[in-house]
Amino acid sequence: MGRTRQTRLPRCFGRPLDRRKYAYLLGVYLGDGHIVATVKGCFRLSLSCCAGWPGLVEAAACSMAAVLPRSKVHRRHVSGAVDVNSQSKHWPCLFPQHGPGKKHARRIALEAWQQEIVDEFTEELVRGLIHSDGCRSLNRVRRPLKGGDRFYTYPRYTFTNKSPDIQRIFTAALDRLDVPWRQMNAMNVSVARRAAVARLDEFVGPKY
Ligand SMILES: [Zn+2]
Repeated sequence: MGRTRQTRLPRCFGRPLDRRKYAYLLGVYLGDGHIVATVKGCFRLSLSCCAGWPGLVEAAACSMAAVLPRSKVHRRHVSGAVDVNSQSKHWPCLFPQHGPGKKHARRIALEAWQQEIVDEFTEELVRGLIHSDGCRSLNRVRRPLKGGDRFYTYPRYTFTNKSPDIQRIFTAALDRLDVPWRQMNAMNVSVARRAAVARLDEFVGPKY
C-alpha cells in the first residue's frame, strides 16, 4: 500500500511475520491460550481447543505453524479438548501479555506493534476471539400477544471472558468494523442486531 510500517517486532524475531495468521492466533491466545516455561529458556504455547470443533483445532494449529514455522505443532487429546501446542523461546516475545497468574487477574494491553497488526487484520482478531471465547447461537425470545405467546428465534453472537481488558480489545475491534455490540453483564458481550450478525457471518459464522 506504500505506507511505511512503524511496527517494530521484537528484535530477536528476525524473520517476516505472517501478520494475518498472527492476528488470528492472538485472538485465540487471548481467549484460550497460555504460555509456560519448559526447559533451557524454552516456552510452550498451548491453545485449549474443543474436540467437538475439528475445523477450529486445525485453524489453531495452522496459525501456530505459520507464525513460528520452525516449531513443530503438537496436538494432545485431553478429555473433550485438544491441546494444540508448540515450543519456542520466542513465544513470550510474540505474546508479551504472558505473565504469572490468570489473564483476568492482570492488566492485558497490546503493544504498539500488535495494535498495528490488529488494526490491519481486525477481522482475523475477531475471528480468533470468537472461535476461542465466543459462540454463535440461536436466541429464543417470547412475545406475549392477544392470541397467545409467540416465540421468535434469531441468531446472535456472544463473547464471554472474565478479563475486562480482553473484552475491551474485542469491543474496540468491533467498533473498528462498525459492528454494534452490547455489554450484557460483567463477563458477556453480545452482537444481536440483524445487520451486525450478518456482518460477522461474513468472516466468522458458526463453529466447525
Ligand atoms: Zn524472541
